[in-house]
Amino acid sequence: MRDELVIPVDDLVGHTGRDREFQGERPVDLRLGESTIKGPMTVEGRVVGTIDGVNARFTASAEAHLVCNRCLTDWTETIEATGTQHYRIEPDQDGYAIVDGSVDVGEPAKDELALAIPAAPLCEEGCLGLCPTCGTDLNRDPCGGHGDESDSPFAALRDLFDS
Ligand SMILES: [Zn+2]
Ligand SMILES: [Zn+2]
Repeated sequence: MRDELVIPVDDLVGHTGRDREFQGERPVDLRLGESTIKGPMTVEGRVVGTIDGVNARFTASAEAHLVCNRCLTDWTETIEATGTQHYRIEPDQDGYAIVDGSVDVGEPAKDELALAIPAAPLCEEGCLGLCPTCGTDLNRDPCGGHGDESDSPFAALRDLFDS
């Protein structure tokens, strides 16, 4: 089967403004810390001819598995990234070029998607995280703290009961 993200562009090169729309999928396997994207990436966009090559504009999206940086709750969320990539007849510094009359829009789309993965995701802005002493999820259960017990008001009561 033809790769949907390898777009034939021979008829666009040198024809400024002539364009072709594309949409396709490719499996990706990306990781940043505890955040992962493993599965199909969807890419859609448009390739436009320029004097010396083509310009691709694309939007990439995929389901990411994220883990809260504070409380370790995990969830799935769609991550989206947009970008542009110019492909010349001769390879440029990025190594992106027109090969055999086609361009691979999947590679730069994957790179943009990797950059869009949050490095330290939070389940919600005000997540309280886990108690560093007992590990209780403080969003669900205020563990009461672990201060010096003799400072607590209960210490005096306990002394009364003990005597
Ligand atoms: Zn959280
Ligand atoms: Zn605690």
